[in-house]
Amino acid sequence: MRKVHEVDCEITSFCNLTCVLCERYHRVVKSKEKIPIKHWTVDDINWLAKEGIVNEVYWALSGGVSDPMGNPNFISIVDALLSHNAKTVYISTNATLGTEETWQNIAMLTNKLGGTKIRFVVAIDGSHQAVNEKYRIGSDYKIIERNLNIFKQYKGRGSWQFIRFGHNIEDVMYTKKKAQEYGFRFYIHNTRKINDVLKVTEEVKEHISQDTYNETHSKLKQAIAPKQTTKQTKHIEKQIKERLNNPKGFDCMHVNERKTIAITYNFEMWPCCYHYRLNREDDMKEFFNNYSNDWNNIKKHGVAKVFEHPYFTEHIPAVLRKEEYIRTCFHKCGK
Ligand code: SF4
Ligand code: SF4
Repeated sequence: MRKVHEVDCEITSFCNLTCVLCERYHRVVKSKEKIPIKHWTVDDINWLAKEGIVNEVYWALSGGVSDPMGNPNFISIVDALLSHNAKTVYISTNATLGTEETWQNIAMLTNKLGGTKIRFVVAIDGSHQAVNEKYRIGSDYKIIERNLNIFKQYKGRGSWQFIRFGHNIEDVMYTKKKAQEYGFRFYIHNTRKINDVLKVTEEVKEHISQDTYNETHSKLKQAIAPKQTTKQTKHIEKQIKERLNNPKGFDCMHVNERKTIAITYNFEMWPCCYHYRLNREDDMKEFFNNYSNDWNNIKKHGVAKVFEHPYFTEHIPAVLRKEEYIRTCFHKCGK
């Protein structure tokens, strides 16, 4: 079986918020989808360890539609990953989920193992309710502060991620101060939301399939640009053009030294977390219609077998050679 260095996974399908840039927002709010609540258990981790993707592997508990602390088995899952010798367990949470006991336990664990073995990140984008809830829709700052107080009391070690938006820029220094008061290392994350702005037309696909990467900017622009070009789409369009023209290819974390895979709460395996929702993207629906529903379900087929599927053995390599097209790859990882 192929070597895996990093697993990005959802140990639950649950989150209590609907942040507007999150896939959860698209599915739950925009598409009115009811995501069934499913939580992984320690048995799932034990099974994955037998599948050979826990020992010495970096495990990121984050995910596309959920918060890992929304899983009631969260602490026992982290324990299980560590006992199966995961290289690092990375946890990213909105800090509003989990019981007082959970926060006490995770604080003590990070205090004991913090650093290489366990990396704990709270994602809070403001110093108080009014600012944080602008993006973290549904969050309650009183609960955040209750949890952070417990974390501080039990000498937890972690980082505080602040996504910078127009609405919270004035609040950065207040938030940093708060993070430091609670004992967190503060850092700013600049989000780059380019994936959903442009839809891929047949014309773009044709450009790519004909290997016409040296098309002039104006020709490519005609094909790619939406009818009303905004400042943001112009910027994205420029990025895409640069990437299409660059012969060096992709900085693909699935094939480079990071060797990632991503696993959804319902055990679908993808090359990276950017692919989570590809089978629901308009320009990919037809493509995936040719696959069975469970083609990438590792519980059904096993990890090694899914790696042997043509999606991994043929399609992704062809995309990286620029013989096939997946919009997400070009947007996210094209150099
Ligand atoms: S907290 Fe995370 S998983 Fe939940 S809605 Fe926000 S971004 Fe998505
Ligand atoms: S989006 Fe495509 S190119 Fe980027 S890491 Fe994923 S598979 Fe690789």
